[in-house]
Amino acid sequence: MADFDVIVVGAGPGGYVAAIRAAQLGMKVACVEKESTLGGTCLNIGCIPSKALLNSSEKFMDISKHAEEHGIKATKIELDLAKLMQRKDKIVKQLTGGIGFLFKKNKIEHIRGSASFIDSKTILVKSSKEEKKLSAKNFIIATGSSSIEIPSIPIDEKQIVTSTGALSLQSVPKSMLVIGGGYIGLEMGSVWSRLGTKVTVVEALDRIVPTMDGEIASNFMKALQKQGIEFKLSHKVNNAKINKDNVEVSIESPEKKELKEKYEIVLMSVGRKPNSEGLNLEKIGVNLDEKKAIKINQEFKTSVDGIYAIGDVAPGPMLAHKAEEEGVACIELIHGQKTHINYDIIPAIVYTNPEVASVGKTEEQLKELKIEYKVGKFPFMANGRALTTSTTEGFVKILADKKTDSILGAHIIGHDAGQLIAEIVTTMEFGGSAEDIARICHAHPTTSEAVKEAAMNVDGRAIHI
Ligand code: FAD
Repeated sequence: MADFDVIVVGAGPGGYVAAIRAAQLGMKVACVEKESTLGGTCLNIGCIPSKALLNSSEKFMDISKHAEEHGIKATKIELDLAKLMQRKDKIVKQLTGGIGFLFKKNKIEHIRGSASFIDSKTILVKSSKEEKKLSAKNFIIATGSSSIEIPSIPIDEKQIVTSTGALSLQSVPKSMLVIGGGYIGLEMGSVWSRLGTKVTVVEALDRIVPTMDGEIASNFMKALQKQGIEFKLSHKVNNAKINKDNVEVSIESPEKKELKEKYEIVLMSVGRKPNSEGLNLEKIGVNLDEKKAIKINQEFKTSVDGIYAIGDVAPGPMLAHKAEEEGVACIELIHGQKTHINYDIIPAIVYTNPEVASVGKTEEQLKELKIEYKVGKFPFMANGRALTTSTTEGFVKILADKKTDSILGAHIIGHDAGQLIAEIVTTMEFGGSAEDIARICHAHPTTSEAVKEAAMNVDGRAIHI
């Protein structure tokens, strides 16, 4: 008889959520985690610590730059970086400890150590203390992802850092080069720029946040430029050398000229790769795709019966909420229930200021798919609440089908974008139209009225512009 109904490998948002759902459904479940704390990338070195630093640095910038316009005299504002980091660490500790509590409450066996497959029904878990074999009827691989590294840019997590090092710098660097204009690089770049670092972003493509709507991306870049972040688009960093006091980088310009520059810190942020190595997957016949993600079907089944994969280690957007949805759906399918995830409606948010939030199709995608659409936009400049909170930058953009009016995509750049997108996600999930949002009563004064007005403007009938 197998030791468990389900063993989940990895305790990130995919794995721990799957384990809890399995326990709720009465399964005997274990979760194996190689790190000393639960919560995975998201809680330890990802979503949560980055948002804690974004919030603290935003407060610092807000008080330093905007207190006066509110009639507040805030003289002698000083940064206590150690305290700021302590706050972040406390939040991380509280949340990761909370997962331990949830495991106990749900009677989930937490097994410490690194797992690898012996065969399709057995794993070996190795820790510094012991090695043990465990069997299960089903395995869920939820081992997540790690930062992509390249040999010519050697990471030491001190001077050349990944996001992990950038979350724990001991002093505010004078200068930072961010390699990669994706959301992680821009969030971490924003943190340090607000705290006083001169930040330069190098991006190989001719735009930042490449999966997002082009119009939003160009407005986003302008907003960050206004804050002092410099961009080198269509540039490539070929190599980096660590010196005693700086990092020397060689950057290739679009004209193929070599630029030699020096920065105190270099942040390598060119994407993440699935953690599919070290699990012995080849031996047991679990197939990977060309990006080394574990191949799965619509029911999260790998090429081996009884082995499933979810989250960052499986194909799709590397986002915590995608991993969580998959964790729940995978367990419910194992339990014999019917469930599915709508991959066309997964929101993505960049938590900078302004925030950028997006769901569904971009204008570029609709053009490529030759889908006829209407656009409704509304600027926060014309929104009463945004004026009262001095957050007038940005706009809401809704894309709706030309004939049916159903919402195909929505893109928001603005202070509350990450919260505001939820209404549009819900409407899309119910197959709703721009007219549906336009007819809903939105409280006044709130920035959600900008969403309503953008929906109205799909048919050119916004009231306040
Ligand atoms: P992970 O969270 O990576 O967890 C996998 C776990 O498996 C890890 O704990 C690992 O130690 C463990 N593991 C790996 N191999 C083994 C093994 N062999 N045996 C035992 N255990 C193993 N996403 C968002 O949605 N919103 C955000 O704001 C956001 N911000 C981010 C900011 C940063 C700086 C980073 C780096 C990421 C961010 N992400 C964000 C992405 C998010 O963290 C990931 O999408 C999410 O954590 C994926 O969850 P997961 O469960 O698939 O994997």
